[in-house]
Amino acid sequence: MKRLAFYSFLAVVLMFSASGFSLTVPKGNRPVKNIILMIGDGMGTSAVYAGYTLNHGHLNLERIRNIGFSKTYSTAYVTDSGAGGTAISTGNKTYNGAIGVDSTGKPAETILEWAEEYGKATGLVATCAITHATPASFISHQASRSDYELIALDFLKTDIDVFIGGGRNHFAKRKDGVDLTQKLKEKGYSLAYTMDELRNVKKGPVAALLDTVHPVKWLEGRGNMLTESVNEAIRLLSSDKDGFFMMVEGSQIDWGGHDNNINYLATEMVDFDKAVGAALDFAMKDGETLVVITADHDTGGLGLNGGSFETGEIKAGFTGTNHTGVMVPVFAFGPQSEMFSGFQENTDLFFKMMNAFGFEVKRK
Ligand SMILES: [Zn+2]
Repeated sequence: MKRLAFYSFLAVVLMFSASGFSLTVPKGNRPVKNIILMIGDGMGTSAVYAGYTLNHGHLNLERIRNIGFSKTYSTAYVTDSGAGGTAISTGNKTYNGAIGVDSTGKPAETILEWAEEYGKATGLVATCAITHATPASFISHQASRSDYELIALDFLKTDIDVFIGGGRNHFAKRKDGVDLTQKLKEKGYSLAYTMDELRNVKKGPVAALLDTVHPVKWLEGRGNMLTESVNEAIRLLSSDKDGFFMMVEGSQIDWGGHDNNINYLATEMVDFDKAVGAALDFAMKDGETLVVITADHDTGGLGLNGGSFETGEIKAGFTGTNHTGVMVPVFAFGPQSEMFSGFQENTDLFFKMMNAFGFEVKRK
């Protein structure tokens, strides 16, 4: 059966099915095959514009037409990355520090886990330890974001196909003495410790633990790790005929904000935007991929008080060294991207992605 015809048939079947797909895609929209979710940690609108300035008035993000805002508050006015990630991954506003659990501490199913259940391939990519708050909130269920070794254990409870980032010590140099890299091998994973090793992996599953804890700053020689990781992850994940879900984090934009270091922040922003370009290039060719790019929160209360597109120079001011409560941008590209424009809760992003995939879920 031709694919379009199949999906119209499917839509009719689902409309009349007893289970009642109350939140499935509207008639006429067929489910998207793949979703690439990209989170610029701490990427408020001024971080985006700092990158735009440093990069001499150009960003890949400008290729996107459907743009909205996300309200990032958790159960507190100002969120952290654990609660911010969990809001997007599970649709729950929760307490700061939570990883994949609701405000009562109960584990909440993440979109990555939903995607696995529906037979899709899944992946996580980050420029920090893969056990850090944002990636962790898509795969782990822990009361506290600082329990890195428990979070690493949770990776083994899933069938994630590709994960790329730092955090090797949380798998291999643990207090309990268990070598989780051995357990991963027993489960059939290829282990990669360098980008070259990752490139040589023919097919998943693969765990690429490219640093002991966090990869270094872009300014200190991380190079093209993020964009290359995105390309390798897409290569491995897109071989699954059922499609894939992948979350990519530009982790260190946030750290530049915490440090009130505009050069750190803006270079991380430009690096993240390059990875955005790689995802958009794939989505444009593929035609069945939804790309959603957002932030979990703003960091530092960055203000841009002057600058030059010619030299890339920025005169920056910060209101503090922590996160702030302001709304952050949401950029969406590809089929069903219209859903993501306008003013929305960070938790809406979960429901909209579920909806785009055509997965059954009922809002509490
Ligand atoms: Zn932070």
